[in-house]
Formats: sequence, C-alpha cells, structure tokens
Amino acid sequence: MIDFLFMDEDLCYSCKKNKALKYKLCDGCLKKLDYVANEFKVGETTCYAIYFYNDFMKKLIGSYKFSRNTSLCKVFAPMYEDFIIKNKLLDFDYILPSPSSKKTLRTRGFDHIGSIVDIIGKDLGISVLKSFKKVKNTKTQHSLDRFKRAENLNDAFKLYESLEDKKILLIDDIITTGNTIEEIVKTLKEGGASEVVGLSLASEKPII
Ligand SMILES: [Zn+2]
Repeated sequence: MIDFLFMDEDLCYSCKKNKALKYKLCDGCLKKLDYVANEFKVGETTCYAIYFYNDFMKKLIGSYKFSRNTSLCKVFAPMYEDFIIKNKLLDFDYILPSPSSKKTLRTRGFDHIGSIVDIIGKDLGISVLKSFKKVKNTKTQHSLDRFKRAENLNDAFKLYESLEDKKILLIDDIITTGNTIEEIVKTLKEGGASEVVGLSLASEKPII
C-alpha cells in the first residue's frame, strides 16, 4: 500500500513536495546530487570533496548559508558522516569546522559549518576543536588576485591550545581556492598538529 499520509517533517527539506528518503531529501532531489568523491592535494594536505558544486548544490548551500534555512544542517551532516565512515576517516583526535570571523557570524546569524560539525562530532564520537578561531576579518578570496589572496589571509587564524601530535579533520563547505586551507593548516602545524586532512561538501571542479 502506498503511504499517502506522512507528516510535514517527512517532507523533502529541499523541494518540500515529496517524501524524504535519505539525507532528508526526496528521490528527485537525491538524483540531482552529483557524487564525485574527489581526492586531491592542497600543498601537502590531502583533501576530499564529496559532491560537485552543481546548480542544485549551489542552491542548497546558498539557502542554508544566506537565507538562514538552518534546518539544512540535518541534510548536510549525514552526507559528511557517510563519507567519513566509507573512507575510514575516523582516526582523528579532533574535527574542526573551518572558522568564520566574528563579523561573518554576526551578519549570517549562525555558524554554518560549526552547526554541521557539532552534529558530526556527536554522531561519530569525535571531539570538536573549539580553540581555533578566525581573528581577522578577511575580504572574500575570489574578489582578490592571487598575490593579494595570500596576504589577505596572513595571520587570519589563531590557535589557543597546544595540539602536540594531534590529528585534525578539517571540515569546509566548498573549496574554492586552496589558500584558506593552506593558512589553516599552517597555523595548526605551528601549534603541533601532526596531520591535517581536509573534507569539503562540494568542489567547483568535477574532477581535480
Ligand atoms: Zn525534493
């Protein structure tokens, strides 16, 4: 028998029309996800991207980040979790959300990566690193040329505890340029971190 009666919370978080099957998305919306599972290097750092940043993903992330559709963290968190489990990325001392500056947090009204990482940390039993902050209000990276980009991020991050021999899984939404990751990794390594691996939800390049 077809189940015609379902509650509102069973509805797809994206189209709000059909019943959600996985990641709070319906069959039609799930099919719009372009799974790429890219592995690439940013400097010395191994990074992964789960999906291609196609129009659907762009809309979904935009709705979450800029229209404060905060419940979408329940869509994104299990996407990361499935990838982490499948690729055995569980052996980390800390999971770290790519930090936003105080100014961005104020404008946006919530910590979009932090909210996702809190769920992942709890579900997978990995401690969330809270002592790493963005201390400089940087300009948007893509508005700058490549020389200004590195300068813009100089001393942008600060670590408030020692990470001697600790392994860190760094979580971001999209990797546009590698500069941010490189600067974060630099600060973590200066603080003693032995290994950093980057994981982003989406990548702008289908294959890197
Ligand atoms: Zn849908």
